[in-house]
Amino acid sequence: MKTLLEIEVTDKTVLMQGNLDVPLDEEGIEDDARIRADLETLQFLLSRGCRILLAGHIGRPKGNDPALSTRIVADHLQTLVDVPVEHVNAVTGKPVEEAVARMKPASILVLENMRYDPRQQAGDETLARELAQLADVFVNNDYIDAHRANALNVHMPKLLPSCAGFTLQREYRFISDLIEHAQQPFVLIIGGAKADKIGVINHLLGSVDHIIVGGVLANTFLKAAGHDIKTSKFDERSLEIAGEFLRDEEEKFLLPVDVVAASKFSEDASYQEVSVDEVPENHMILDIGTHTAERYRHVLMDAKTIIWGGPIGVFEWDAFARGTHAVAQAVAESGATSLVAGGDSGAAIHKLGLTDKVGHVSIGGGATLSLIGGSELPAIKGLEEAQQRS
Ligand code: AMP
Repeated sequence: MKTLLEIEVTDKTVLMQGNLDVPLDEEGIEDDARIRADLETLQFLLSRGCRILLAGHIGRPKGNDPALSTRIVADHLQTLVDVPVEHVNAVTGKPVEEAVARMKPASILVLENMRYDPRQQAGDETLARELAQLADVFVNNDYIDAHRANALNVHMPKLLPSCAGFTLQREYRFISDLIEHAQQPFVLIIGGAKADKIGVINHLLGSVDHIIVGGVLANTFLKAAGHDIKTSKFDERSLEIAGEFLRDEEEKFLLPVDVVAASKFSEDASYQEVSVDEVPENHMILDIGTHTAERYRHVLMDAKTIIWGGPIGVFEWDAFARGTHAVAQAVAESGATSLVAGGDSGAAIHKLGLTDKVGHVSIGGGATLSLIGGSELPAIKGLEEAQQRS
């Protein structure tokens, strides 16, 4: 895969796919970390006089949802760089062609939300062809969506001289190297609610020494181990494989021994700390208990390599955030080389003010989980195949 330093960009028109998918709230952009992650690549291109067409998406728009227009990114970007930043109200077609024709060297044009055009998600080559006509070079810096076979990831490297931007390159390298050269003890922490993380356990089971389980996945493992988890959320589809993991590699798994059980799934629920076998009727597990947190801490303090994906409990509500807090603190104090896979675990780390204390908080959740789960990232595959052809 070519890097920015290996491709001629001076005075070119560059189509750059960026990490524009920022979280929004009523006041606008809630956290601009992802846009900031694009700045180094943008500044590099601007210093070489490039006209930059910046493409990306915000959220999951159904049709052309104006609330998810990338105009908000253009306006914010204008406060971060001292070159002109324009926004065009279209993804391709005449409005974009006209806006590109008006561009001056060292300037940025933010294209409309790429997901307004269903061809992006569908991986449709015609979209890439239309955009390729407007640019000389493709720079892919979008790590957040690197695991998606979208039109730009897959087709653009076939159509234009292409390379990875600094963020995509750095995230991919760091994570690949971490897994390849993991020092032992190697501990995997898996939490959260989405079932896809079972694939990560499957892939890393042979390489890790311990697997700490939290969140809905912990409930699933507890149920598979025969505990009565009452009304706790669990993942039906992962139940069987969780049982197999426990049968084959039980000594590697650290499951909760005590939990915080709540009367309902609500911030104001009444709750109590109980052993895993004493969850009261009509109660659900929303966090790990004190003894479990201590056990987890003990293992983490000895670790040399840690990968963490997904919060340990419902950390958004203070009453159920203690497990996530304890784990975050232990990761920060352990001195291990650590990787936190974006999304909610990253948000938990930020909320707790520990971002500078853990090794590497990846900006991408899904992409990082795909990578550590052993999947090929379409963005990387596209760029690598282009290099092999050249
Ligand atoms: P994920 O996107 O898979 O990392 O899931 C993150 C979500 O899992 C967060 O919103 C947490 O509130 C939620 N979560 C964590 N633990 C539990 C639990 N025990 N029960 C229900 N939801 C949980």
